[in-house]
Amino acid sequence: MLQSSYSYPLVFLSVVIAFLASYTTLDLAGRISSLSTKTSRRAWLAGGAFAMGLGIWSMHFVGMLAFSLPIVLGYDFAITLGSLLIAILVAYFALDLVTRGELRTRNLLVSGTLMGFGILAMHYSGMAAMRMTPGIEYDIPLVLLSVAIAIVASTAALWIASTLRKEIFRLVSPKRAGAALIMGLAITGMHYTGMAAANFPLGSVCGAASQLDPNWLAATVVMATLNILTVTLLLSILDARLELRTRLFNRSLENANETLQYQATHDALTGLPNRYHLSQRIQHAIDVATAGKTRFALYFIDLDGFKIINDSLGHDTGDQLLKELAARLKGCIRKEDVVARLGGDEFVVLIEKVDDAAMAAQIAEKLFECFRPDFHLADTILSISASIGISLYPENGASIEDLLKHADAAMYEVKAGGRNNYRFFESAMNIANMRTIQIQRGLREATRQGQLFVQYQPKWSASTNTILGAEALVRWRHPELGMVSPAEFIPVAERSGQIMEIDRWVVEHVCRQLSDWIAAGIKPVKIAVNLSQINFRSASLVDDLVTIAAKYNVPRSLLMFEITESVAMQNAAETMNTIEKLQSSGFDLAIDDFGTGYSSLSYLQQFSVRQLKVDRMFVNNLSHTDQKGSSVVAAIINLAHSLNMQVVAEGVETEDQLEILEAMACDQMQGFLLGKPLEGAAFEKMLGPEETTAPTAL
Ligand code: C2E
Ligand code: CA
Ligand code: CA
Repeated sequence: MLQSSYSYPLVFLSVVIAFLASYTTLDLAGRISSLSTKTSRRAWLAGGAFAMGLGIWSMHFVGMLAFSLPIVLGYDFAITLGSLLIAILVAYFALDLVTRGELRTRNLLVSGTLMGFGILAMHYSGMAAMRMTPGIEYDIPLVLLSVAIAIVASTAALWIASTLRKEIFRLVSPKRAGAALIMGLAITGMHYTGMAAANFPLGSVCGAASQLDPNWLAATVVMATLNILTVTLLLSILDARLELRTRLFNRSLENANETLQYQATHDALTGLPNRYHLSQRIQHAIDVATAGKTRFALYFIDLDGFKIINDSLGHDTGDQLLKELAARLKGCIRKEDVVARLGGDEFVVLIEKVDDAAMAAQIAEKLFECFRPDFHLADTILSISASIGISLYPENGASIEDLLKHADAAMYEVKAGGRNNYRFFESAMNIANMRTIQIQRGLREATRQGQLFVQYQPKWSASTNTILGAEALVRWRHPELGMVSPAEFIPVAERSGQIMEIDRWVVEHVCRQLSDWIAAGIKPVKIAVNLSQINFRSASLVDDLVTIAAKYNVPRSLLMFEITESVAMQNAAETMNTIEKLQSSGFDLAIDDFGTGYSSLSYLQQFSVRQLKVDRMFVNNLSHTDQKGSSVVAAIINLAHSLNMQVVAEGVETEDQLEILEAMACDQMQGFLLGKPLEGAAFEKMLGPEETTAPTAL
């Protein structure tokens, strides 16, 4: 036998190439699995198979070159090329296989075996390229060992590649490097076992000695392979990063979309579904209930007196309360049910699969229970009740709008009947309440959408025939209902608490008007603004009024406030307090609608307000023919004068009334006869310029 020897640097180089080829292969496997388009997959498969095949082949070839015999060796060009082709084919087969998806065990074993034979074919055909004469004598057990190693190594390599293929987004992966090392060692192990199996009889001659010079080959193959592997690896990594970036970009787009979607369907404060989302859920409930002939219930929940809490304790407290309540309501229903917030203090609960009204009532009780415990907020403890209106599908409506509207109407009935209760919708509620509900809803927008405006009705001096002041009266132009009288919407606003906002808006508007007049050199007159009960009782009233007047730089002596007799007499001690505060801040006060309530004379005396306004009803009854009506008014005027108050007669409509009132020494008159309520610009024309008007004594 010829004595063979190995060049260890080349052996080492062959191991390095095997490692590099394996690493590249694993990387490519990951790369190709993540590709979405067919063309790019095919391109990467072809390029990858070439690089990988060349890698395996050149490892094998460098391994051969590391081997030397004491005779001149060379390699047959065609056979060498053939073995390279085999390597590339095997690589293509393997890459294609591991990047197709999960590899099942049987597939893996069959493929591993096939690939093993492919590598063996490459190896032994590479050996044949030496064209030895006499032929190489193979040691059968070692050949079998190399076969076994090839199959086991291939199977392992396929398995590793297919498991690791999902780890694509790392520049250098330690796991992949470890796997590549094992694969590289397995491949070189197979090679050197195959080499060890080969025995060259003494006197062998290499038939290809003159064809390809091994030294030249070694340099070329190594350089080319290293280049190709490195370039492939770099390309794969760069491409992966590009794709990673695209994916990250897409993901952030997706996230942004999700956030937008969430914001569009949820209420920002409580995180509950909003009206839009609720509508979709109701539609779904309608579909399900129609198909299955089942029922569902809608609960329209409105807090009692929330507005007052919000206004007197601040929006922060109001928000906390709403959040806490949202959490409670959510905790009280099943997962498949919905609690939504429509805005403000309105919540709607949708309960699917309700058997009958009895069951719906039970659920209403349960919702009611949510309100029973006190609300412990950051700096207060509150207790609050709710009014709940219920509508049932299919009895109370077939559409989302009807069901909501009817639950709302039932809720409104509860409010009207003293709150803190629940009621089912009844068809009788329908029409009567629609307008009130429309008004209540509309009021929310009224101040914000500029639907409100103020008119001024002059108050005349009977003796001097001059304007001494005016009463500010709020007006509302509803987008659908047209002009709505304050006599209609003020009571609604009082029940819902919205009057707070409206009255403040009027005060602010009046102050702005006064400051405009002053700036324009028009002599302003004292303007009286109506204050409703809730406003008058609010703790911050005087401070707020002072702030508003200061904001517009309006002298407080130009403002008067009217409270009705019944408001003044209710809780007189507190009233006295507020009146004193108002007066000491420089504001004037009038008792409105006098004669309609029950006044205590002693209180009236203590209040010592500026004006008493005799109610329209009494003025109406004044005539030269009816003495009874006149004597009541005369008595009121005498009483007022004895208490040092001015008397204003409201609703003066006829010359007769005017005459009688003048004869009774009534101080001021107000009514359609003397002047209807006018908008600021029109009213202004009745006022003289600053200098020329005679000073008015008030
Ligand atoms: P009020 O305070 O008694 O206001 C006088 C009402 O009598 C006004 O009705 C006025 O237009 C009307 N009026 C004036 N002269 C005559 C007349 O000669 N004959 C008749 N028949 N009526 C006359 P309006 O504007 O409809 O207001 C109704 C009520 O609404 C007011 O009664 C007041 O209680 C309330 N209100 C009006 N504006 C405000 C406001 O800004 N805030 C509050 N809280 N309430 C307001
Ligand atoms: Ca009034
Ligand atoms: Ca009045």
